[in-house]
Amino acid sequence: MMNQHKPRLLTGDTPTGRLHLGHWVGSLENRVHMQNDYDCYFIIANVHAFTTRVEKPAEIHQSTMDIAIDYLAAGIDPNRSAIFLQSEIGAIAEMTFFFSMLIPFPRLMRNPTIKDEIRDKGLGDNYSMGFLLYPIGQVADILVFRPDIVPVGEDQVPHIEMTREVARRFNQVYCQVDPHTEDADYIAKGGVFPIVHTKLGRSKRLVGLGGPDASGNLLKMSKSLNNAIFLSDDADTIKKKVMSMYTDPKRLKPTDKGTIENNPLWIFHDTFNPDKAWVKEAKERYRNGTIGDVECKKSLIDALVAFIDPIRRRRLELEKDLHYVQTVLREGTARANEVANTTLLLAKEAMRQRYF
Ligand code: ATP
Ligand code: MG
Repeated sequence: MMNQHKPRLLTGDTPTGRLHLGHWVGSLENRVHMQNDYDCYFIIANVHAFTTRVEKPAEIHQSTMDIAIDYLAAGIDPNRSAIFLQSEIGAIAEMTFFFSMLIPFPRLMRNPTIKDEIRDKGLGDNYSMGFLLYPIGQVADILVFRPDIVPVGEDQVPHIEMTREVARRFNQVYCQVDPHTEDADYIAKGGVFPIVHTKLGRSKRLVGLGGPDASGNLLKMSKSLNNAIFLSDDADTIKKKVMSMYTDPKRLKPTDKGTIENNPLWIFHDTFNPDKAWVKEAKERYRNGTIGDVECKKSLIDALVAFIDPIRRRRLELEKDLHYVQTVLREGTARANEVANTTLLLAKEAMRQRYF
C-alpha cells in the first residue's frame, strides 16, 4: 500500500463535469501508466469548482463523484494511488494564504491561462476574488505534496511555472537558499519545496468538436465549453457527436479537395485510431476528394467506441456501488492528509510560525 520509496506524483481535476478525451490524452493516460513507478496522489479540486459554479453546489457534488468514478473506470488503482478531496485537506487552504503573499498581483494577472479562461468562459469583468485566487490555490494543491512530477495538459503550464516561482521564493525567503541555486538543488540546500517538473501528455491540447472562435483558433476540448466526448458517452451519443462535429467548412461534397491541417476530424483520427495505415491512406483520399466525410466519420466512431466502451461499462458497475467509491475517497484523503500535514509543519517551522 505505501509507496514511500518511490518518487511522488501529484495531479488532478476540477469537478466541473465528467472526464473527456482531452483529459485522457492530456494527463489521465500518463497517470494510469505511471502508477507503478510513482507514489501517486490525485486531487479532485472541488473547492476550485466553486470559482465558476458558486450557486451550483449539488452539481459540484455530483461531478466530484463522477470524476472519482471516471478515475477508477479509466484504470486508477486505489490500492496504489490516493484519490482525495481538496476540501478535506486543511493544509492546502492554510498554505494558499501564505503563498498568496509571495506572488505580486500584477504577476498573477499576466498568467495567460487566467486570461484565456476569463475569455472562453465568458466571465467578463465579473469574476470573483476567489477566481483570481485559484492559481495560487493550485500552487498549494501541488506544493503541500512536495511532488517530483506533475503530469498536466498544456493549459496548466503557466500555473506550474507560478508554482516553481513560489517554491523558489519560499525557499529563498524562509529557508535561506541562495537565489543562484540550480532548481534541482533546492531541497539539498535546505529548501522545503521542490521546484517541480511537468510531464505533458501525448496530446498537449486536444481540440473540441466545435469550430474555431472569432479569431480562428480551435478551442480546446473542455468540460465547460460543451464540445467534448466523455469517457462515459455511449455509442449513440458518440455517433451523434462525431456526425455533427466541425471538419473542413470549405468541403461541401465528397469530391471537393479537403484540408487535413487544423481539421478536428483528422486530429481525432491521429490521436485515437489505432489503424495508422488506414488513417494515412484516408487522409490522402480526403486531400484528393475521393472519400466522403461519412466514411471517415464512421471509422472514427468505431475507433472511439472501441476505446470508450470498456471504460463506460466499468463506470456503470461503479455507479451501482457508491459506498465503495466513498471508501476509496475516505482512505485516499486520509493518506493525502498525512503527507500534507507533514509539509505544513515543515513550512510553518521554516516561517518561524510553529509556537507549540
Ligand atoms: P474546465 O472547463 O472546468 O476548466 P477542463 O475540461 O479544462 O475543465 P480541467 O479540470 O481544467 O478540465 O483540467 C484537468 C486536466 O486535464 C489538466 O491537466 C488539463 O491540462 C487537462 N486537460 C483538460 N482539457 C484538455 C485538453 N483538451 N487537452 C489536453 N489536456 C487537457
Ligand atoms: Mg480547465
